[in-house]
Formats: sequence, C-alpha cells, structure tokens
Amino acid sequence: MKQKPDIRTVAIYGKGGIGKSTIASNLSAALSHMDEKVMQIGCDPKRDSVALLCGGLKKTILECLDEGMSEEIFSKVIHSGYNGIYCIESGGPKPGSGCAGRGVAQALGFIEQYRVFENYGITFALFDVLGDVVCGGFAQPVKDGFAKQVYLVTSGEILSILQMNNVCMSIISIAESYGSCTISGIISNMRGVPHEEEIVEEIAGIMGLPVIIHIPRSHTVQNAEREGKTVIEAYPEDSQAKIYRDLAAKILSSDPDETFSPNPVSLSEIKNVIKKYMPSQGYATHN
Ligand code: ADP
Ligand code: MG
Repeated sequence: MKQKPDIRTVAIYGKGGIGKSTIASNLSAALSHMDEKVMQIGCDPKRDSVALLCGGLKKTILECLDEGMSEEIFSKVIHSGYNGIYCIESGGPKPGSGCAGRGVAQALGFIEQYRVFENYGITFALFDVLGDVVCGGFAQPVKDGFAKQVYLVTSGEILSILQMNNVCMSIISIAESYGSCTISGIISNMRGVPHEEEIVEEIAGIMGLPVIIHIPRSHTVQNAEREGKTVIEAYPEDSQAKIYRDLAAKILSSDPDETFSPNPVSLSEIKNVIKKYMPSQGYATHN
C-alpha cells in the first residue's frame, strides 16, 4: 500500500494479556489530545481492543460481512470513540472454526480498498495486534507497508520475554517473504517483578532493540477499566496518564526510518540474565 508520508502508522505486537490494548487505547487517547487524528485498528479475535475508547464491545468487520460489503456498510464498523478517535475491530471466527488471522487480512483489504485513512483524514493509525499465533494474518499489518513502525510489548517475566522473542522472529520471517521488516523498539509493561527494568533493558540489548519506555504496573489502570475508560480519560492527572502521554510524545518525535533488525535471544541467554538479578531462584522451564 502506498502511504501518504504524513500518516504515521504504528503496530503494537505482543502475547495475549500482556497489555497491548491497554497501551494502545491510552496511546490513542493521549495522541488525540496532541492534534492527531487517530484510528485504532484492533487485530485480535478477542475483539476488545477499542472497548475502552468506545464504551464497550462494538460490531466487528467479520460480523459485518454477513450483510455483504460496500463502502457504506464498512462505514458502520468505523466507530466514533473517545475524543474523535476512529475505532475498528477486525473480529475473528467462532473459536475452532477457521483461521484467526483471516479477519485481519480482510480488515486491511477494506481499509485500502475504501481509502479509509485518506477519507477520514487520519494522521496516526495504530494497529493493536495479537502475536500469540504464528499465522500470516497477524503479520498482515507489517506486510506491504501498512504499519511502518513496529513495537513489541513485554514484561520482565521469563515467559513473556520468550514470547516476545518468538513473536518478533515470526513477524520478521513472515514479513520477509513480502519485503523487509524491522522493529522500532520494545515497550516494557511491567508486572512488578524485582529488577524488571534492568532485566528488560539487558535482554533488549542482546536483541539489539531500544526500550522506549517502562510502564509501571498501576491500580489506576484497573480503576479506569472498571469505569470502561482509559486512564487518560478517567484519571488525566494521575502519574500513569503522564506515562502514556510520554509514550505518545516519544513515538511522535521518533524517526520512522530508525528501525532495527533484531537478533534472536535463546532461552539460556534469557535465563542467565534473570539469574543474574535473582541468583537464589531456580526455574521450572527446561531446555
Ligand atoms: P492484551 O491486549 O495484550 O491482551 P490487555 O491490554 O487487555 O492485554 O491487558 C490485560 C489486563 O492487564 C487488563 O485487565 C489490564 O487492565 C491489565 N493491565 C495492562 N497494563 C497494566 C498496567 N500497566 N498496570 C496494571 N494493569 C495493567
Ligand atoms: Mg487486546
């Protein structure tokens, strides 16, 4: 897809439950207060990416396909969310029936066909993508230049780091068949494990990727979630809101062309880093 240079396109990848949608929604909300016209595209069969921006679950593209498809029908699944943010949810098939990434491929196809970014005046498109499944559909946002900047979300927990590494390598190998794919950096969404910042920084160093920000674990996130809102909307004065605003500012001021080709990290390398900070602990994971 040919992009206008004034559209910034960012994809956030990571395993399920790591905090992608929370980060994406707060990032979108923060960006909407920075004069950006934001569109958030949820690419996860869980279909709850934009719930905090839209006050609940919204109709997905796959659900909409039952009615056929036209530009007018597609416009009904472009939901208007918090502070003028446009929200799309690709959706997914019923569990056990068909490929989970199919909705993503179709969503992007329609966005391109109906020139959605141009017609809605989008300046910042944010793709919130599940990374658990090694499936071509989930690599779709990085194929053909849909998302120029890719960020990986992890915490300092061993399985989370391992999964980030797997996600990273599978995106790259799939996307390489369609052109180059590089990574802009790591977003650390902390779980509260000891020495978490050091662990993530050291692993990132081995992978050759910068850590963009460490987001603290905070009850404010859950409190806002209970109200069905982002932290930016519900608690704009809280220190957690400032963190998401900092992330937005960092991404906005980053050079989209400054990306990195990561080195894979092995399980034993990850274990060695973690052991260094927790020398008394053993691990149940075998290699
Ligand atoms: P994903 O989109 O990766 O599946 P979610 O964004 O839905 O993950 O987050 C999973 C849970 O983790 C949510 O209930 C959310 O409230 C919580 N969460 C995410 N980030 C934080 C944080 N920084 N502090 C506290 N809770 C968080
Ligand atoms: Mg999610």
